[in-house]
Amino acid sequence: MKITDVQVSVIGRQEPWSGGSVWTFVRIYTDEGVTGTGECNSGGPGFTGFATKEAILAVKDLLIGEDPFNVNLIYEKLRRRGRYGGSTNAPFVFALTGIDNALYDIMGKALNVPVYKLLGGKFRDKIRLYADCHAGDEEDPQSYAEKALEVVGMGFSAVKFDVDNTGIGKLDEYNWSVGAKEMSHILRLIEGIRKGVGFEIDLAIDCHGQFDVPSAITLAKAVEPLRLLWLEEPVPAENIDALAQVKASSSTVICTGENQYTRFEFLEIFTRKAADVIMPDLAKAGGIAEAKRIADLADAFYIPIAPHNVSSPLGMMAACHVLASVPNFLVLELHALEIPWWNELCIGDAPFVKDGYMTVSERPGIGVELNDDFAQTMLWNGDSYFKGQ
Ligand code: MG
Repeated sequence: MKITDVQVSVIGRQEPWSGGSVWTFVRIYTDEGVTGTGECNSGGPGFTGFATKEAILAVKDLLIGEDPFNVNLIYEKLRRRGRYGGSTNAPFVFALTGIDNALYDIMGKALNVPVYKLLGGKFRDKIRLYADCHAGDEEDPQSYAEKALEVVGMGFSAVKFDVDNTGIGKLDEYNWSVGAKEMSHILRLIEGIRKGVGFEIDLAIDCHGQFDVPSAITLAKAVEPLRLLWLEEPVPAENIDALAQVKASSSTVICTGENQYTRFEFLEIFTRKAADVIMPDLAKAGGIAEAKRIADLADAFYIPIAPHNVSSPLGMMAACHVLASVPNFLVLELHALEIPWWNELCIGDAPFVKDGYMTVSERPGIGVELNDDFAQTMLWNGDSYFKGQ
């Protein structure tokens, strides 16, 4: 089998509550008529989606003529092309991710097996999800608690809320210190949610790397009695020793990783004891095989993996195959509760999320396809759709 063409399409919509749900899809064609589609992240509002597309097309020449079953060789060849620009840097590593996922989709379809079987089989049939929640009124602990209870009522056993941008008591736009008023408000919000859902629901809190070390330590110590599932990115992602300092300061579980990519960056986190839980984004971190390498590396440090996820059903199912195949999976994010067209974008075993779980597909390949008719109506900023072979 030989790769004959590589095409890319950027799909998505601006959402009122975020920078946008924008995904880059790469479709790889072969001389045997089997095609694979992989999804990768477009990098949020900092990128347009087209930067990832350009990065994929920049390595297309290395893919044409290759046997997709040589997926590890292809990955290494592509990775080395990026060495002078930094092969763990966005958007290059996002491009590698989409390509690797498309190759796994091809291999599964050609062999008529779901992707998890190519990874050594599965530990579980269903992937437990947590709901990323956005409460309407950021000033009111009651609205946070009500939102949490609404989601628990839908079957979720874990929820996550943001507390870094409440609009209350912020001292300064550029200083990451949390003053007494803001800290008191943040603690009221978290306590309100915990009181609302009780201690038998997992509660994660995201800080988006917006606090400095003393503020993060104060927060981590203050929430100790609330037994969080984790406190996420309490300080910015770049300085691993600063995060390790926060982690060492309390018994609160510290999680990081949505802005770290490949096994090399996670190895740093593990050896410097900077996190208790990791949350690589599997549409960004390097691809299906690299995600499994990261998870296996984490397992050697007895660290669970709880991926960040803002993907379409296709990218999310790709993640589910990896998470089914490793022992140390904890929980996967669902960020799509407020996207009404999320299920319609893809074809597979919809609805893709039921009672707080996503069932790992038994269909060949990733097991979820783009709904071509609908996807063509959702092109991002005038992009064009796959032309076919
Ligand atoms: Mg986060």
